[in-house]
Amino acid sequence: MTDEKTTLFADAVELMKRHGALHTVNIKYGYIIFGLSALFILVRTLSIWYYQRAWKRSGRSTTVLRVTSLPLPLSISLIVLTVAILVAVKPHLEKITVVVKRLGRLAYALIPLDIFLAAQPAWFSVDNYLNTIQMHKWVSRVIVLLGMFHSIGFLAYYVSMGTVGNLFRPVNFLGFLMFIFANIMFVFWKPIRNLNYTLFYLYHNFFMLALVVMIYFHARPGVGLYFFFNAMLLVAQTVRKYTRARDVTLTEIIENPGSNLLIVKFPKSLLPESYLPGCHVRIGYSKWTPFFTILPSHPYTVATSFENRDLLASLVIKKTKFKLEPFETYSIQPSFESSLSQNFFDTADNVNIVCGGSGISLGLVIFEYLKRSIISGGREIKLKFVWITKDEEDVFILQELNVQGVDVFITNNTSYELDSIQESAGIPLTELSNDSHDSLVTIDHKFSNTVVVGKRPDLEKLLQNNLSKTIDYANKWIISCGPPSLIEECSKISTKQKCRFFSEEYAF
Ligand SMILES: Cc1cc2nc3c(=O)[nH]c(=O)nc-3n(C[C@H](O)[C@H](O)[C@H](O)COP(=O)(O)OP(=O)(O)OC[C@H]3O[C@@H](n4cnc5c(N)ncnc54)[C@H](O)[C@@H]3O)c2cc1C
Repeated sequence: MTDEKTTLFADAVELMKRHGALHTVNIKYGYIIFGLSALFILVRTLSIWYYQRAWKRSGRSTTVLRVTSLPLPLSISLIVLTVAILVAVKPHLEKITVVVKRLGRLAYALIPLDIFLAAQPAWFSVDNYLNTIQMHKWVSRVIVLLGMFHSIGFLAYYVSMGTVGNLFRPVNFLGFLMFIFANIMFVFWKPIRNLNYTLFYLYHNFFMLALVVMIYFHARPGVGLYFFFNAMLLVAQTVRKYTRARDVTLTEIIENPGSNLLIVKFPKSLLPESYLPGCHVRIGYSKWTPFFTILPSHPYTVATSFENRDLLASLVIKKTKFKLEPFETYSIQPSFESSLSQNFFDTADNVNIVCGGSGISLGLVIFEYLKRSIISGGREIKLKFVWITKDEEDVFILQELNVQGVDVFITNNTSYELDSIQESAGIPLTELSNDSHDSLVTIDHKFSNTVVVGKRPDLEKLLQNNLSKTIDYANKWIISCGPPSLIEECSKISTKQKCRFFSEEYAF
């Protein structure tokens, strides 16, 4: 062999070695992100558990609160930063496809975390899916963006090399199809989701399945480990949904002409023996129809506390597209745990509940529970319940559910029929005014209702009196449930008044 031939041969071996090595160089980055995902779940779960334990021991909600109060934007920034570091480490820029491939691998290796976070209810009972679902949304966005960068990188590479034909090799074409599906996913930003949640849900599930399966066949080197976890999690979630759901025929739905709200009753025996106020059920089509799997189920807060002796539990539901009809059979998945822990109910000593419209379902069950703690448990709790609703006809909810002690504000009517409201409320109205909330009499612990017609109240002024009755900010709460504007206003008040804040918005 001549010298020249020897050099050529050595170069070829070197090239093969390098390419072989480069082919597998990204595998470890996938494992790293997968390992970090597991660590993330572990740390999250332990910190929630630790915080709840510390709260129980100290009797104050702010003890080690910092452990769990990492704001969502910060958590997401951490995930994005981790991914960015893993992309930037040893990118092997001499062969640009290495880093482009890595983007795709990191995206796929994040999917098990994403599916884990989407579980309903959350897999670990200390956590709550209403919180993990927020993380799920952002992790999904990171996955889709990484996947799109991966696709754009390869498209640009093929164009620059004049090898666009490569795109049509079946394994590559699967990736290209996913790129198109990902672009369509971006159509579903919030206003579109709100316009048609069902369409979003259908496309979201199709996209997720396509991603899990098609990329399993598309990725080289293989991604079997992640595929295995994805498949296991999806199967486990589906089995759990089927085994938890019960079919029930609704026999009692109470409406009031002119009101957009209705009360739906179902057998309380479907709920666990004990549950905390704020838990919800999910109602969907019968579990023996394909719609059960294909279409979304709808969450509704249980408005009846478990101490209530009624055999039926009530839901307060705003009429929307999803209609519940009497004598039709639906599936009910009980029960999704309350976001408020037992510690809240045991330690809060000043609670200000502000609800808007159907948000009353959350407020009234918390209110009833705390009221019972005052009356039968001898607890010293400063309690205020404000309900702002559109129509005077909505007030029938209070009568039907026998709730007393609420300050009701009706915002849609400037002219009202005193008699009709009194009749709807069915209980003594201590004060009735159509001009200003100033004339409202605060009636702590007397538990009869007060109705003010015509105006949205100045909330801060309204809550001030009750808020100022205790000092410890750790056990002083504003709880809000209703439209985003109401929740935001309450959040601002709690910041200003230096008290704790909890809210639930009835949408994802
Ligand atoms: C934890 C929780 C508790 C809730 N409790 C109550 C309650 O007690 N009373 C009540 O009237 N409403 C409650 N809701 C809201 C209720 O679930 C939705 O109004 C209902 O699912 C709307 O269904 P739709 O098809 O008619 O929606 P649309 O009229 O199409 O949409 C209305 C809004 O509801 C959201 N939405 C639609 N479907 C779902 C779904 N399957 N899951 C989550 N959000 C959805 C959409 O994003 C949209 O913003 C609750 C929501 C959550 C998240």
